[in-house]
Amino acid sequence: MFDLVKYTKELSELLESSDNILLISHINPDGDAIGSQLALYHYLKSKGKAVSMLCPNNLQEFLKWMDGSEKINVFIRHRKRSLKVIEEAKLIIMVDFNQPGRLGEAEKAVTSSPAPKVIIDHHLEPHPFADLLISDPSMCSTAELVYEIISVLENGPFRNRSFLESVYVGIITDTGNFEHGSYTGRTMRIIADIIDSGIDKSRILNVVYNNFSADRMRLLGLALNQRMTVLSDYNTAYIYLTKQDLADFNHVKGDTEGFVNMPLSIKGINFSVLFVEKDNFVKLSFRSKGSFAVNQFASKYFSGGGHMNASGGEYYDTLDNTINYFIKVLEETRYQLKDELPDEKN
Ligand code: 5GP
Ligand code: MN
Repeated sequence: MFDLVKYTKELSELLESSDNILLISHINPDGDAIGSQLALYHYLKSKGKAVSMLCPNNLQEFLKWMDGSEKINVFIRHRKRSLKVIEEAKLIIMVDFNQPGRLGEAEKAVTSSPAPKVIIDHHLEPHPFADLLISDPSMCSTAELVYEIISVLENGPFRNRSFLESVYVGIITDTGNFEHGSYTGRTMRIIADIIDSGIDKSRILNVVYNNFSADRMRLLGLALNQRMTVLSDYNTAYIYLTKQDLADFNHVKGDTEGFVNMPLSIKGINFSVLFVEKDNFVKLSFRSKGSFAVNQFASKYFSGGGHMNASGGEYYDTLDNTINYFIKVLEETRYQLKDELPDEKN
């Protein structure tokens, strides 16, 4: 059982004894990574701490409106400045990841820093590279865990607007606006409290979700219409996109976000895969419904990991070979997928 109070006390001791705190989110940061990072930032700033922030690579457009996001040092863009904040850090807090590889090009500089390291996260199977691991995979998002930790530290809710907006973004993005993920009644009570405190929910939903280009919508059309294969025998569907497809639709980072969830709406499909062709490898995203653990599948066959129902990985081969290999290994897991046929009784 996750002991929130015990971990918060340990974190509190580290926070009290350190100034110059560095908050780090993961490569290709999503709303939960940036939401958790900024939530902690606004909290610690309100307590008078010196805080800096780092992210391995660029933020997507739909996160750049967030209060404080402009203060995040992007490692691949500002190496010198980023190396300086790493060097000056007396405490490093990493959010929403638990593998050093998720630090991207900042990995070496961060892991070799002598500063104590904390991880606040909700992913399974953590790699032991931090001094304090605060991880609760039962949380729908790291942002929810951050909210809970700060509530314990404050002996009640912390009602700073920028903080609450950051937590809100983390929760809505990691649950697909409450479509999936392990959100609970408690999550909803946190959301209720955040909404009651007067955040502009409509504006946030609009900037987070209605921010796509026409090209992105057309790329989705191509993906569903011409690049999706349904393998009914395996209760599986997959979509692939070639480099040419992405170029044809002026792809920008984040455009394929959400594509992998779509096939799960097909009756009888409980496993969905997206293959995106990169320069010398293929990036894979996995989603499932029910008890088929895609993080295990990702780690066993595609050097990846993640959550039980949402994970990713990569494969260093051509797109064709990757798809063929996938179909081959799918055979080995077929019986597990069969167990999961939804609503057969109805
Ligand atoms: P997505 O499919 O949205 O890129 O990733 C879904 C989840 O899978 C993320 O929350 C992330 O934790 C995990 N993930 C994605 N790609 C990788 C990867 O290459 N390695 C690992 N360990 N996890 C990944
Ligand atoms: Mn997350």
